[in-house]
Amino acid sequence: MAVPIRDMENENLLDYLDVCLDFVDQSRKEGAVLVHCFAGVSRSAAIITAYLMRTEQLSQEALDSMRQSCEFVCPNDGFLEQLKMFEEMSFKVDHASPIYKRFRLKVLGDSYNRGEKIDSSKFGADPGLPKEVSSKLELSANGENNRTPVYRCKKCRRVVALQENVVDHAPGEGETSFGWQKRRSGNPFKSAETECSSVFVEPLRWMTAVEEGALEGKLSCAHCEARLGYFNWSGIQCSCGSWITPAFQLHKSRVDISTV
Ligand SMILES: [Zn+2]
Ligand SMILES: [Zn+2]
Repeated sequence: MAVPIRDMENENLLDYLDVCLDFVDQSRKEGAVLVHCFAGVSRSAAIITAYLMRTEQLSQEALDSMRQSCEFVCPNDGFLEQLKMFEEMSFKVDHASPIYKRFRLKVLGDSYNRGEKIDSSKFGADPGLPKEVSSKLELSANGENNRTPVYRCKKCRRVVALQENVVDHAPGEGETSFGWQKRRSGNPFKSAETECSSVFVEPLRWMTAVEEGALEGKLSCAHCEARLGYFNWSGIQCSCGSWITPAFQLHKSRVDISTV
């Protein structure tokens, strides 16, 4: 099995973990397995660390235990961060988790910053298209998800996002919100009081303005063209103080939130 990743901090390791770890698992049942990369320092070490984490439910100790066998083991910082996310998602790559959704957005933001063309194939399906709506609504009517919020354009009622498209953030926190701990301890009530005035979502196929390649711009309803929000690849600060990067923002005042 060959996995096409480079030893770079912004390389997406997470999306290969499940398939790699399953392969190691299966191979060990049949005999032995050799996991290797070029130097045996970062990539293969990251995979085996993840494997130990998953099978032994280990955290940082997995890496320590590897180092006892080979002192040179040293996954790059980006891989270490992703291993941490893997642990926070209970040792699986959970696509519904806000941790994973934020990671995916960051990967997309990185490829935008590298100048790659971002086309709609990388966007989430448009929940406002008839097929999507009916199948999702049916699903939510039958299943336990019948309290799942749906976001509609306030003006024309077109569905613009489903709860599963929302990328949650903890109010007042954020990767680039420097010193949030200070702010928190300084005024413990501040972030709790400030309700977010926006929801942030993954880029969706109705956001044609995003496809045009601009750094930032308006997000308008695909049906009535009412302004719903804004996008900015370098990030937008939510009213709660969190920075979301990149950001695809819907103003709560422009959408109706209803449970089906
Ligand atoms: Zn917020
Ligand atoms: Zn509309």
